[in-house]
Amino acid sequence: MRQQGFTTRILHADRRGGTEHGAVHKPIHTSSQYAYSDACELAAVFQGKPGFSYARQGTPTTAALEAKLTQMENARASIVFSTGMAVLAALFTTLLKSGDHLISSRYIFGNTNSLFGSLNALGIEVTLVDATDVHSVADAVTDKTKMIFVESIANPGTQVADLMGIGELAKEKGLIYVLDSTLTSPYLLQGQSVGASLVMHSLSKHIAGHAQALGGVLIDTGLFDWSRYDNILPIYRKGDSAGWGLTQIKKKGLRDMGATLAAEPAHRIAVGAETLALRLEKACSNALALAQHLEAHPLVQAVYYPGLVGHQQHERAKGLFGNRFGTLLSLEPKPHVDCFELLNALDVVILATHVGDTRTLALPIAHTIYHEMGAAQRELMGIADNLIRVSVGIEDCDDLLNDFDQAFTKLTA
Ligand SMILES: *Cc1c(COP(=O)(O)O)cnc(C)c1O
Repeated sequence: MRQQGFTTRILHADRRGGTEHGAVHKPIHTSSQYAYSDACELAAVFQGKPGFSYARQGTPTTAALEAKLTQMENARASIVFSTGMAVLAALFTTLLKSGDHLISSRYIFGNTNSLFGSLNALGIEVTLVDATDVHSVADAVTDKTKMIFVESIANPGTQVADLMGIGELAKEKGLIYVLDSTLTSPYLLQGQSVGASLVMHSLSKHIAGHAQALGGVLIDTGLFDWSRYDNILPIYRKGDSAGWGLTQIKKKGLRDMGATLAAEPAHRIAVGAETLALRLEKACSNALALAQHLEAHPLVQAVYYPGLVGHQQHERAKGLFGNRFGTLLSLEPKPHVDCFELLNALDVVILATHVGDTRTLALPIAHTIYHEMGAAQRELMGIADNLIRVSVGIEDCDDLLNDFDQAFTKLTA
């Protein structure tokens, strides 16, 4: 049978899974606990039968969101958490132990980089390499290596890792390959197409899209053979091995650590997710137009955006994402331009952190999210002092181009 499109499937999946009272839109379930008329049923749920017991481990509302996300990635199963960082903390601490080795990218989200420091303190060694080149990843593999973790498009430099090459390497070496696909979303890239074992998204970004809820998800693509992973505890080596990885993460990382996504934000994220394709079509085309416009401006030194023909991984990005290159660009004005003055002259663009909102947001990277890491580390990552990150929204395109034009004009007046 012909498969329906991305948006049709996610709009109608809830209904086809069965409705409550005929409600066309999923209700929100706020109950903390779930009761059974037969105590044997209650015990069965505690012993692994699908069902709900206590909301820390999930509710019908989080389960509906998980089903939607699994469908978006065409994957096996998902677990949602209270934030994207909660996903990462649970992932690393439940699948890795002291003595294990993790390979990641030198170009990585700042808070993830900071979390790697905490892993080091727990005895988990992290090696950061240039993941745009699969050879540097391969060179870092040791007999202690358990996992490779990379982002699809790096923030703020927009480097695109060799996702395919890393997928092949991970398969050959039997390593868990985790892809943080936050900046691409399942609309631009599905993790299994590059061989990822697990896909992580911050739901706070493109998937919710409205910036009115935080959340994160970890998705099992079904490609990794968990029966061969020796960090799965004996108690979770039961039943179909395809479910072992997520079961351990859910029990140890969600139940025991408690970073649960509450029903209200889960519902808001599910509503936002339904318009993902529409928002990304518009925001990606705005981002490309803005990147090209800025690149041609005499007061601009460099623009980093995978959609630009001069971008180092443009061809790779085209192969991976089709003709959509994401919503994030970074702009380096000429050295004599003060990034604060330029930002303050903007009118439509909002001065705020965050990415993937419907509204366009901008901030001075070195002075905000990359402030804590210090000048030496920033230089290593190629982050100039006046670099500006722009998360492009769905405004009418000309209003964005005009906003930068008028801001530059104000500076030269
Ligand atoms: C925002 C972000 C995260 C963390 O997600 P939160 O929901 O803010 O905790 C992780 N990775 C990337 C690439 C992000 O952009």
